[in-house]
Amino acid sequence: MHKLFARQLAKATSPSGEVDLDELGKLAGAAYEQSDRDRRRTDRSISLMIEEFDSLNRGLERLLEVRTKALREREAELKAQNLRFEAAVNNMSQALLMFDGKRRLVVCNERYIRMHGLSRDVVKPGCTLRELLEHRKATGSLAIDIDRYMTGMFETLSAGTTMARLVELPDGRTIAVLNHPMADDGWVTTHDDSTERQRAEQRIAHMARHDALTDLPNRGLFRERLAEALSGVNRGNNLAVLYLDLDRFKGANDTLGHPMGDELLKLVASRLRHCVRTSDTVARVGGDEFAIIQNDIEQPLDTAVLARRIGEAVSAPYDLAGHAVVVDTSIGIALSLGDGVEPDGLLKAADMALYGAEADGRGTYRFFEPAMDMRMKFWRELEVALRQALANGEFDLHYQPLVNVDDRRITGCKALLRWNHPERGMISPAEFIPVAEEIGLIVPLGEWVLRKACIDAASWPDDTKIAVNLSPIQVTHQNIVPVVISALAAASLPARRLEIEITESVLMHNTEKNTATLHRLRELGVRISMDDFGTGYSSLTYLRKFPFDKIKIDRSFISGLPADNESIAIVRAVAGLARSLSMTATAEGVETTEQLENVRELGCVEMQGYLFSPPRPLSMIMPLFEPQRRKLAKSA
Ligand code: C2E
Ligand code: MG
Repeated sequence: MHKLFARQLAKATSPSGEVDLDELGKLAGAAYEQSDRDRRRTDRSISLMIEEFDSLNRGLERLLEVRTKALREREAELKAQNLRFEAAVNNMSQALLMFDGKRRLVVCNERYIRMHGLSRDVVKPGCTLRELLEHRKATGSLAIDIDRYMTGMFETLSAGTTMARLVELPDGRTIAVLNHPMADDGWVTTHDDSTERQRAEQRIAHMARHDALTDLPNRGLFRERLAEALSGVNRGNNLAVLYLDLDRFKGANDTLGHPMGDELLKLVASRLRHCVRTSDTVARVGGDEFAIIQNDIEQPLDTAVLARRIGEAVSAPYDLAGHAVVVDTSIGIALSLGDGVEPDGLLKAADMALYGAEADGRGTYRFFEPAMDMRMKFWRELEVALRQALANGEFDLHYQPLVNVDDRRITGCKALLRWNHPERGMISPAEFIPVAEEIGLIVPLGEWVLRKACIDAASWPDDTKIAVNLSPIQVTHQNIVPVVISALAAASLPARRLEIEITESVLMHNTEKNTATLHRLRELGVRISMDDFGTGYSSLTYLRKFPFDKIKIDRSFISGLPADNESIAIVRAVAGLARSLSMTATAEGVETTEQLENVRELGCVEMQGYLFSPPRPLSMIMPLFEPQRRKLAKSA
């Protein structure tokens, strides 16, 4: 019997043992109701629990879904990133390697494999640095001691510093290698092929210190080498510095054209190289200037021998596209034995000696002498004094008549500049004009000459002319036409009475521009003469470039008359040429009656020279016009 029913039965049973059925029924009913209530409560709790489980489940599923999606996205992103990394690594211009803390390869890009021609079978993730280096050695892209290299490398890396070095490969390439430590004891290595850059740098460095045309050291490198060589003087290395200037180069350059001039310089450079020992230095230090360091000399004679050898080598004829060209060289020499062991001092001494050699006549050599230094000082003082002279009114003009050879009538006068220096007295224009040209003073000075000459000439007979020298500097660097117009206007002098005298050097440079200037002067009515004809490189060439009104045959040809046959032939030829070109032929520097007779016979129509009159001050020239004035007055 069920315990509950037993208890209910006991409750419904009277002490006499009678069972109260109603009571039992009530009790049983109540029990059933209670049980129903309990079951219903239980059912409710169960369904609540199930609901909770369901919602928990759904939540978890949603979370799982979100997480899975995020993971997938992350994975795709990583994949893309990986691809990008690989693309970047394989397309770098540098070769790249990455090693982990166990010295094993993690990453190696294509560039590295190709740069060193390696096999992917060996060079792959996991291989050690040693294996990789040994593979490189075996395949010929490395020629170093692997053990030493690795020791040095790990020492640097473990100190946390980047190791950078340039490695020469057996095939000549230069590789910039960089080993950079990483946090996990690994490192990144990059290899950069810097062969081209290296070569370009070397080329630039070479170009900065060499002359592009001849490939000889330039002035800078020459000075460096000289300083270096002079530091060895104490150890007994005595040396000489030779300074060379090519004579007649400018003429050849202008006549044959610059490409030929360049070719000539290259040939000269090569001959010079052959004259010296390999331990000596030949440099190009200017347009047609060269310098040489001759090492290990025992006595000045050693240098004299070299200078003579150079003179002979340089002056041998050159064949330039069928043209036979001859140039000479003047050489100035300074010796460490005696002239100083200081580079600049020695260079200056050689330069001064060169001036000396050039003054001696071209094609020679000269050793430096202290007297040259004195001359240089004088030159420098001249420069200072010259600048003040114009302002101080120290200049004057003298006039030298130009005379008709037949009737000795004065056709005009040439203006010649005179400098009356307060202390030194008269200084010759031959001495100061070159200085005035060099410092640019010739421009204002020449203008002063022109203005004064025009004013002075305005009071001379109307059929006389005034001849004025124009320096090449004035024609090239000054707008000379308006200056001439203004000088004529200020003096009220007709243009036909002015004669401009130029030398062929005016037409040697800036030929086109200068010819145009001369044409403009000519259009004004001014006459143009070629002065000092025959002294230049190729005066005849310049006669073709401009239709001169007059040729003045240089004094050096007249002084040979009447004895020298060569002078006779030249004067005759030039006078004949002048006549056929409708130019006046004037003989300069006629000093004797024989010379006068001679130049007349040879065809000159005019002369200038001491025979008739030296250059004189204006006041002494004026009386010379008197006979002419009287004649003019009579005929009027
Ligand atoms: P230049 O223009 O050829 O002048 C002729 C020179 O020869 C003058 O020298 C003159 O005195 C000299 N002379 C003339 N006749 C004789 C002679 O029979 N025998 C000798 N032995 N010499 C004679 P100077 O006056 O010393 O002038 C020298 C040079 O200086 C001139 O040569 C010219 O090139 C330059 N010069 C003079 N004045 C000027 C000037 O105003 N401007 C420029 N740019 N140069 C000038
Ligand atoms: Mg002259």
